[in-house]
Amino acid sequence: MTAEPHTQVHHDSRSRVIEPLYAEILRRNRGETEFHQAVREVLETLGPVLAKRPEFVDARIIERICEPERQLIFRVPWSDDSGDIHVNRGFRVEFNSSLGPYKGGLRFHPSVNLGIVKFLGFEQIFKNALTGMPIGGGKGGSDFDPKNRSDAEIMRFCQSFMTELHRHLGEYTDVPAGDIGVGGREIGYLFGQYKRITNRYESGVLTGKGLGWGGSQARTEATGYGCVLFTAEMLRTRGEDLDGQRVAVSGSGNVAIYATEKAQQLGATVVTCSDSDGYVVDDKGIDLDLLKEVKESGRGRVSEYAQRRGGASRFVPGRGVWEVPCDVALPCATQNEITGDDAITLVRNGVKAVAEGANMPTMPEAVRVLQEAGVAFAPGKAANAGGVATSALEMQQNASRDSWSFGYTEERLADIMRYIHHSCHTTAERYGSPGNYVVGANIAGFEVVADAMLAQGLI
Ligand code: GLU
Repeated sequence: MTAEPHTQVHHDSRSRVIEPLYAEILRRNRGETEFHQAVREVLETLGPVLAKRPEFVDARIIERICEPERQLIFRVPWSDDSGDIHVNRGFRVEFNSSLGPYKGGLRFHPSVNLGIVKFLGFEQIFKNALTGMPIGGGKGGSDFDPKNRSDAEIMRFCQSFMTELHRHLGEYTDVPAGDIGVGGREIGYLFGQYKRITNRYESGVLTGKGLGWGGSQARTEATGYGCVLFTAEMLRTRGEDLDGQRVAVSGSGNVAIYATEKAQQLGATVVTCSDSDGYVVDDKGIDLDLLKEVKESGRGRVSEYAQRRGGASRFVPGRGVWEVPCDVALPCATQNEITGDDAITLVRNGVKAVAEGANMPTMPEAVRVLQEAGVAFAPGKAANAGGVATSALEMQQNASRDSWSFGYTEERLADIMRYIHHSCHTTAERYGSPGNYVVGANIAGFEVVADAMLAQGLI
């Protein structure tokens, strides 16, 4: 890869340095649309830091940071309950280890491909840096579709996946966790197989474990709780809080459920949840016990929630949740779920804050619409970092063979979210974009990683 000589950085770092680099990334990573999107969104904001720190350009930090340290793609064969054989593809992208062992979740979803794993892994580098914890960035998963699979099929798939992946993992090397399609059950099967193959009870090799065998209190809640705590911090800088606000949440998985729980604890009314079939709007506020019950039993569709809840709640099939008027929007489903048009609708309906519980749920044009309208917008790498931060707390407990109380762990999480908010906020100010959390998060995360890479030499 080539870069312009650093002498030009001071003149126009964006067009002279960043544009050719981005063109080169497009050329070398063809078809990886989501990865391009994630890289572009970061590079667009780095101009001022490259102008201030030409040593980053000299050391080719951008080229190095955009190229994963290692990319693993492997075959995952397994047989279903009728004895039919399936072959899936497994991935682990070990993106950056300058701050610690590769850390990031595994996603099991039919949409998973290398571009998706690379986008998630790339985001994870900066997210993990923002937490202030000693964790590098990585991500993995498979195009396996867990929908309608029996428990035994899920177990066999996880065992086959880990039979290959185990040789690349280790508490000091690479520490996966969950993401979409990978929760406590899958982490259990993955951990069991790792333990069996290696003959080591290496608790710190996976996070999101069960509470009885090395898991951390508050890890399940952490991503959703953290996202709401970050939102509360953003509102606080504007002299507001969550009490009495009407909140729209998308999704109905782990992140959505615990974002709803924390928002309700802070006095907000959460009026929506959704899945791939449509959304529920419930003007009285989502009945979280009922939603949890529906999710845990049967097919777990939100339409069933609406049926059982009756009254003020209704299911709207085939549509997105962002047409529901709200003060605060928390996208907690998946990438690219808020389009430019959705953002226009949100703004027209008076939204004040949007915080990403999912990874990259807001499309670039939607981010622009929200920012131009003066909406407080928190990118996922800041707003949803509570999950991975609590994974790092789980690693800490495992390393010291200790386990902490829920209250203590949640307090640590709250401290971390306040710290992330503070560093995004002050960094954005320092670089001339006050209130712009995208700039703040990207630059604050990048500086930490880039400094570590410089210190560690050309590797
Ligand atoms: N998958 C989560 C994320 O996107 C958590 C990763 C972890 O805990 O390692 O950050």
